[in-house]
Amino acid sequence: MHCLAGDDAVRATNDDASECKRCAVNLGYWQDKFINFFIKAGERKAPEINRGYYARCTAVSLLMEKFLLKAGAEQCQILNFGAGFDTLYWRLKSNGHIVKNFIELDFPNVTAKKCYAIKRNKTLLEQIHSEDGEVKFSPTDLHAANYHLVGVDLRQLSEVQKKLADSEIDWNAPTLLLAECVLVYVEPEHIRSLLSFLSSKLPTAYFINYEQVNMEDRFGQIMLSNLRARGCSLAGVEACRDLASQQQRFLDTGWDGSKTWTMEEVWNALPREDRNRIEKIEFLDENELLQQLFHHYCISVGWKDQGPRLSLSELHL
Ligand code: SAM
Repeated sequence: MHCLAGDDAVRATNDDASECKRCAVNLGYWQDKFINFFIKAGERKAPEINRGYYARCTAVSLLMEKFLLKAGAEQCQILNFGAGFDTLYWRLKSNGHIVKNFIELDFPNVTAKKCYAIKRNKTLLEQIHSEDGEVKFSPTDLHAANYHLVGVDLRQLSEVQKKLADSEIDWNAPTLLLAECVLVYVEPEHIRSLLSFLSSKLPTAYFINYEQVNMEDRFGQIMLSNLRARGCSLAGVEACRDLASQQQRFLDTGWDGSKTWTMEEVWNALPREDRNRIEKIEFLDENELLQQLFHHYCISVGWKDQGPRLSLSELHL
């Protein structure tokens, strides 16, 4: 039995994430012409939060671009698990990167809101239209030529498989998979089933996962209790113990290899000129808090490299 209040609280985390992204974008941390179409302005966030979002978005984009470059963007598909109101499809398209297929999955309640926002916005709609096909909407799902948004609970593997088939997934295409702040909310056995299923079907794949880590110390425990206080069940937290557990989860579920970076490492790996620009946007009086946040989030990747060998183990920030 899943607690409904818990699932509702998890769905609400998307509003927080989207508000944070909107805040950082409007302050000039990075560019996103589309986020304002999905979420209204919320409170201004603390500089540490904005900087953390910048580091995460930049690192995910860097790894993604490296994968798309190696595999050839037009041959690739992207699967975004727990996508929320992420705007990646529109950002890629407006920068001229056309991928073969792009599939977003989230709870039906969240995808229904995203479908609604897309349907009534000309700019968003224009980008998913193509000459060779109409856009099909249901209240929770949307299917266009190379963009699919589907409502599904990631814990229901047979439903996930069906929704992926409805979205014309090509199991042989090189595939980039994303999960940003999602797996921590899902029970370990369901994540294992999903990761095993994906690794068994995809010969060439690169999974980028961003989430909490090092949760066993005092700061980690405070972060978890804040989330629990909002009603979120943190079912998947077992993999957040340390970097080794993050990697082991991929290795135990049939992936060829895995790597993990804390956000401290990610920040230090970003080009000096980017960091200088970001440091000038907002003054930080409390560097200690940012360091703590960076230490408690990580990017972990898992790869399958069984197709035309792409040396995916060499991809780095
Ligand atoms: N990935 C987006 C981002 O980074 O902006 C959204 C992150 S939000 C913190 C977590 C998302 O995961 C929510 O949209 C939530 O609905 C989704 N999610 C969590 N558990 C899920 C599940 N079992 N099935 C489908 N979606 C789920």
